[in-house]
Amino acid sequence: MNRRDFLGSSAILGFGLANVSSWSNAKAQTTSEMDKREIAKLRISSQMGVAPGDSEEKKLANMKKFGCEAVEYHGGVVGQGAKYKKMADDAGLEVSVICWGSHGGDLCKGDPKKIDNLKVDLKKALETAGELKARGVIYVPAFAHETKMTNQEIRQLCLDFLPEMGEFAKQCNTHVILEPLCRMEAFFLRQVADGASICRDCGGVDSGVSVMGDFYHMYTEETSDMGAFISAGDYLQHVHLAGGTQQPSRTLPGQNPRTFVDGFRGLKYIGYNGFCSFECGCQGDRIVEFPKSIQFLYDQWEQA
Ligand code: MG
Repeated sequence: MNRRDFLGSSAILGFGLANVSSWSNAKAQTTSEMDKREIAKLRISSQMGVAPGDSEEKKLANMKKFGCEAVEYHGGVVGQGAKYKKMADDAGLEVSVICWGSHGGDLCKGDPKKIDNLKVDLKKALETAGELKARGVIYVPAFAHETKMTNQEIRQLCLDFLPEMGEFAKQCNTHVILEPLCRMEAFFLRQVADGASICRDCGGVDSGVSVMGDFYHMYTEETSDMGAFISAGDYLQHVHLAGGTQQPSRTLPGQNPRTFVDGFRGLKYIGYNGFCSFECGCQGDRIVEFPKSIQFLYDQWEQA
């Protein structure tokens, strides 16, 4: 099909064009109405592995001591919601999310049985997230090495699969949270706006399907951290904190040259008051470096 044929065939998409017309007639928000900085807040969370301490209880206690408001749990807590909710409660912390993963990339293997198993297990994770009062379950459709499908095929699989998961998440008062990764890890879901557009096509901000941004991956994939978070807007339910690829790579914020100011400007503008959670390595003694990094982040938030 040449360009003229393509443009001609697009005329039959009258319904779509009518929709575009009605969108353009909708009253746009003013710039000041879109600016939600007044309600934005930096609320720090951490994965267990990043915090100092030689037991889960000590790690949670140190998170609280150094200014975290929440813990991000790993997938191992699924099915143990009551136990891990009590641990967080005892430490005075909320639970931000469950970092769950890709389930071996089973959505993108071309095997309906694998997708059925994925559904069962993701629903269990969402039930536990509900018990934990967590914002969601972080889900990656596949890591790059787990699939041979194209980005177009995987996007369609997401649209076929995620609405049902989003509906289930809503029943559990939580979300499925898509995590865009750098191109080496997930060539089909790289930018925060890629994830947000999948959420939009799954039914919008009330679909139970949402997106997050990870400062490590964003360093490679985004030309503007601020623009990326503004693109996500109300679809954004979580943020991962880590330095970029400069050495020492993917380490605690403040330990490499990665700046967070531009991204924090975006978070402020959209009125983000969800959690920003450490997912990174550490150079040096965690008991010294962890609180230093939290202070660094508050300084960056102040500058934003
Ligand atoms: Mg991450």
